[in-house]
Amino acid sequence: MLANYIDGRFVEAAGASPIPVLNPARGTVIAQIPDSPRSAVDEAVAAARLAQPGWAALTNSERAGHLRQIASKIRDHHEALARLLTEENGKLLDLARGEIAGTADYFDYMAEWARRIEGEIIPSDRRGETIMMLRKPMGVIGGILPWNFPFFLIARKTGPALLTGNTIVIKPSEETPGNADFFARLLDECDLPPGVFNLVHGTGKTVGEAISSHAGIDMVSFTGSVPTGIEIMRQAAANVTKVNLELGGKAPAIVLDDADLDIAIPAIHISRVLNNGQVCNCAERIYVQRGIADEFTDKFVKAMAATSFGDPLGNEAVDMGPLIYERSAARVAGMVERAVSEGATLLTGGAHREVGGGHYFEPTVLAGAAQASEIMQKEIFGPVIPIHVVDELDEAIAKSNDSDYGLTSSVYTRSLSSALKASSDLNFGETYVNRENFEAIQGFHAGMRKSGIGGADGKHGLMEFMQTQMVYLQN
Ligand code: NAD
Repeated sequence: MLANYIDGRFVEAAGASPIPVLNPARGTVIAQIPDSPRSAVDEAVAAARLAQPGWAALTNSERAGHLRQIASKIRDHHEALARLLTEENGKLLDLARGEIAGTADYFDYMAEWARRIEGEIIPSDRRGETIMMLRKPMGVIGGILPWNFPFFLIARKTGPALLTGNTIVIKPSEETPGNADFFARLLDECDLPPGVFNLVHGTGKTVGEAISSHAGIDMVSFTGSVPTGIEIMRQAAANVTKVNLELGGKAPAIVLDDADLDIAIPAIHISRVLNNGQVCNCAERIYVQRGIADEFTDKFVKAMAATSFGDPLGNEAVDMGPLIYERSAARVAGMVERAVSEGATLLTGGAHREVGGGHYFEPTVLAGAAQASEIMQKEIFGPVIPIHVVDELDEAIAKSNDSDYGLTSSVYTRSLSSALKASSDLNFGETYVNRENFEAIQGFHAGMRKSGIGGADGKHGLMEFMQTQMVYLQN
């Protein structure tokens, strides 16, 4: 059974019930984690609190040196990490390799901020007074992770948290804990002081709740679904703990009559099957303008139908791996069935396929779903996409904005004025013009509406991990 990492040591969670970890492509058990008791979280938080003042007392540049050392360790183990990530998540090896490389880059990028975090000096209305704004760490961060980009998300939380003088307690997803364990083992070989980084395994109900309701946690940084985000807000409310929430998405892709289909079709197709259809900011619904709708639909359906799938460790050439678990396939199948029963037409795919112990959903395209229907409104998180025909850009924008989600959006057009109109009128944290995800580490990944509170990456993401103190200095 994998151990927790608390105060610089690997410790067994004695007596905890084991949770099996599966290879989603084969259905085989590859590891076990403990459903750690609340006392393990108490110990991790206590260690993090004890370590925090000493860690914050280092200079930014000294802390940045530790982040660079972590980045370099990750690069030394790049291929082994990528294989482990594919084994427990089911993503294609090349995507896993990109995630590992991006994680190392993320630590290096955050280290670059060491000499650039600045306070402010503000003119006073009182003679002889200086007003200063200082930036201080939050204290101890609780990081709760999903399974879809589990390794990168360790860095998205740990990099900015540590650089700004916080310490951290991480709970990985119970589906993908092995890469976090590997990370802790690499970190253990680094010079990081004990207690600065802690890892506790378990379910959301035990370890997740213990973190988000803990009085010793100063900020919960959570990435996952909207319902869990709502629960975490509730749990954190008891202590008025700050929450930073990166939640689900329902990204619209708008394809206008003047779009370059050689760009739009592969971009939307790749986005929809990327990570086996399980990316928060991948295209989840298409609004295509009437003049180009038939040609777009015909070519797009062919691209989706030609998508191969299978075990990514068994055959590196497949385009798509399995869904994370069986209940995902059942959930996606239910959504497709209900869409069809409400009048949508199935253009390709539509079936749950079990192959070699893995659960796949055929790349699926639907047409004619009503704007108010579930398939147009709810996050699918599988390789399924509805196409909805619109008459003009205004209609596409209005229908895009008519959503509980506000994470990302995209528009395909050759017209600068259409691109500018879409960018200004789409109410989403990100808008991509003539391309799909991913976002840049120097950007700011943040969702509107139910897609989240606060954001990550870049200068603004770093600021989330700090609080301010005003100093009024009267001479
Ligand atoms: P999830 O919400 O089911 O679980 C995420 C984490 O929360 C897991 O570690 C889980 O154990 C924990 N958890 C569950 N219940 C909890 C509770 N009551 N209290 C505290 N923690 C609890 O999400 P998932 O299925 O792992 O991930 C998929 C979701 O994540 C999708 O909705 C996707 O869009 C979203 N996501 C968003 C982003 C983003 O940047 N906005 C990035 C990746 C994934």
